[in-house]
Amino acid sequence: MNHKTAIVVGAGIVGLATARALSLAGYKVTVIEKSEKPVGASIRNFGMVWPIGQPEGLLFNRAMRSRQVWKDISDSTGMWYSESGSMHLAYHADEWQVLQELAALFQQEGRQVFLLSSSTIAARFPHVQQKGLLGGLFSNTELIVDPREAIVTTAAYLENFLDVQFLYKTQVANVETGAVYIGDQKILADLVWVCSGQDFETLFPTVFSNLPITRCKLQMMRFKSSDEVMKIGTSVCGGLSLIHYKSFTKATGLQKLEERYKAEMQAYIKYGIHVMVAQNGNGELTVGDSHEYGHSFEPFDSAHINELIFSYLKQMMDCSSWKLIQSWNGIYPKMQNGATEICLSPATDVFILNGLGGAGMTLSFGLAEEMVKQYA
Ligand SMILES: Cc1cc2nc3c(=O)[nH]c(=O)nc-3n(C[C@H](O)[C@H](O)[C@H](O)COP(=O)(O)OP(=O)(O)OC[C@H]3O[C@@H](n4cnc5c(N)ncnc54)[C@H](O)[C@@H]3O)c2cc1C
Repeated sequence: MNHKTAIVVGAGIVGLATARALSLAGYKVTVIEKSEKPVGASIRNFGMVWPIGQPEGLLFNRAMRSRQVWKDISDSTGMWYSESGSMHLAYHADEWQVLQELAALFQQEGRQVFLLSSSTIAARFPHVQQKGLLGGLFSNTELIVDPREAIVTTAAYLENFLDVQFLYKTQVANVETGAVYIGDQKILADLVWVCSGQDFETLFPTVFSNLPITRCKLQMMRFKSSDEVMKIGTSVCGGLSLIHYKSFTKATGLQKLEERYKAEMQAYIKYGIHVMVAQNGNGELTVGDSHEYGHSFEPFDSAHINELIFSYLKQMMDCSSWKLIQSWNGIYPKMQNGATEICLSPATDVFILNGLGGAGMTLSFGLAEEMVKQYA
């Protein structure tokens, strides 16, 4: 039987999710990746699958669908994940007011969220900093994967369970209807999907130069506690995260909160810092992050930014036993017009899927299923 064939350029989460959806739609898929192994944004993130950050409707449903796919892949492969949920903490009256508002709004939408008092948090999550804590908003829907394991395991899953093969260390130099070029070698395919992440100049530079797209650089750190069995019990965020997610913009108290942050926490606002902590199956704690926007960045990380993140972290977590073991940065493309993705066709049977910003781990599986259904 002759299968329809598809090539996917890029083995980050967007490419993997697209390969999965194409394979399920009956295509024999080849993923072509320029690096020897995954090194892009998809292995540099927290691994937070984060429905709480997505607004009601299409995006929340897409996030919940992706969450289910992560669970299915994990259950098929034995890959680690944790249905840890998430907690947003309030240490100021205005943060607590916003959390209370959000709890009511989210509960009306049917989301699984609960307000927790400071004493309940102290009992259930003893590593959360108790000093000055007013309460928290706990949500059940967030899931954590370890991105460094998850991307490699998902690629292996696609090879072993679906009709997908991978060509690593192979840069696609050009794409046209029905073919991609690797140097002067031409590889034929019925469909080509370009999922090239932050490298949006190599293929279709003119298409991208006409889009409102930029890049975002984020600084991250990883800690290990000297207490080997220490578990934080959920993913934790501070008040600054409230001004970073679209789903929170409905809270009427948010504007005043943002004004206070702008007046009192200028360095945090300047570098787009909000502080989140995710713990992986080895007990390691991934902490970030900052958000700097531009076309190109200094390759160097700023110690000042890491100090700001750590100083905020100490206000929300008892991290006296934590030792810094790694720091790095990651870069993703970001749409400047509020769009949550780009899916377009620059030539017949050629598609670009990109621009998921800071939500690729949360949205890719659901989005790729929708886009492949629509276009393939
Ligand atoms: C620090 C950080 C934290 C984040 N935290 C989260 C989080 O917790 N939750 C969440 O949902 N999202 C998070 N994100 C966002 C998420 O990581 C990204 O949205 C996602 O990884 C983007 O995936 P991608 O496949 O588009 O890009 P990438 O992972 O960068 O993959 C693109 C791939 O394409 C390859 N490629 C490019 N051009 C070519 C070519 N011509 N030929 C062959 N190969 C090519 C590249 O080598 C690369 O491997 C975070 C991002 C960062 C940077």
